[in-house]
Amino acid sequence: EFVPASRVSRIKSSPSVAAAARVRELKAEGRSILDLTVGEPDFDTPEHIKAAAVEAITAGETKYTSVTGTPALQKAILQTLELNTGLHYSANEITIGGGAKQVIFTAFMASLDDGDEVIIPAPYWVSYPDMVLANDGRPMIVPCGEDSGFKLTPDALRTAITDRTKWLILNTPSNPTGAVYSRAELRALADVLAGFPHVFVLTDEIYDQIYFGAGKLTGLVEAAPELKDRVLVVNGVSKAYAMTGWRLGYGAGPAGLIGAMNKLQSQISSCPSSVSQAAAAAALSGDQSFIRTSGEVYRSRRDAAVAGLNAISGLSCSTPEGAFYAYVNCGGVLGKTTPDGSVIRDDQDFVLYLLDLASVAAIPGSAYGLGPYFRISYATSLAVIEEAVAAIDKAVQALS
Ligand code: PLP
Repeated sequence: EFVPASRVSRIKSSPSVAAAARVRELKAEGRSILDLTVGEPDFDTPEHIKAAAVEAITAGETKYTSVTGTPALQKAILQTLELNTGLHYSANEITIGGGAKQVIFTAFMASLDDGDEVIIPAPYWVSYPDMVLANDGRPMIVPCGEDSGFKLTPDALRTAITDRTKWLILNTPSNPTGAVYSRAELRALADVLAGFPHVFVLTDEIYDQIYFGAGKLTGLVEAAPELKDRVLVVNGVSKAYAMTGWRLGYGAGPAGLIGAMNKLQSQISSCPSSVSQAAAAAALSGDQSFIRTSGEVYRSRRDAAVAGLNAISGLSCSTPEGAFYAYVNCGGVLGKTTPDGSVIRDDQDFVLYLLDLASVAAIPGSAYGLGPYFRISYATSLAVIEEAVAAIDKAVQALS
């Protein structure tokens, strides 16, 4: 009998991947499901990006590349970083991988020894704790409630840091809440970090182009350039350019960390797909109008979802400033009874009830480390959002 390594039994499969699989199953059984679980843009990859990939194939760019990517991709990443952070990065300060997800995993593999601690503000992207566990680290979860906008406060950070802290993870805009750290909030966290030079920061800015505030989003190293030598900026093309299936992400950080990550990458996959690299280079260096047009669509969906959900008695949600998720407080329906007589005890019960009675699929807040909430994704049509909100309203009204 096969016995998996202990690192496998330490972790669980991604709940969002599991939720998506459940929706597919129900659809295959013929049920029509209003799916609000989706963690990817519903748009097609822009044509000029696809064309660049086809061109790369035709030109025979179908071989291994250097571990750190083709010259065209490296150039595009360095220029993008300069534009987004206002800082200069060199080629030995960047790494690429099969999605931001793989970059984060490799960062932990390159840096964590047994028992090293990683501070993870909750609610968090589901993969962080498991990635830490898989690499022998200890996830240190810090609850960040709605009263602080689901964001880590300087005091909570100071309290969480120990001698064993290796990393702090920040994710702005956040999956699952859509919360965005302001420049002042990032500065305040940086001021705490100044007193703890052994702590590195992984800032996951994969949603930075999906931002509803004025101007562009401020990232951590832009707000605190003095931290550049201990920050790993993680980004990629998945969300901004509707390229989740191409699997291309990147990281930028101090040369020592990046060198260790690239050494591992050379033994893991050698390099991400050469065709995806060509597509990503075109995405980062080509026409950026897709960001604006898709952003306007996301904004109108956000407005519809937030207004609709807040009009339902027992539910409330604050307005997300970025990404394409809303984190809905369902504390007001706990303790109520469903038409078939069962009591809604927690967000998981409520999400199951919504799937059963309203055919609406969402993900319970317990998956993200903070209840009683559920996450909806509005990376779906306005029609589905409106139908889902109406169905949720009806289901809530059926509770007694
Ligand atoms: N980081 C966050 C916060 C995400 O939500 C996701 C995808 O859901 C990723 C990283 C992974 O992105 P990629 O497709 O680049 O691996």
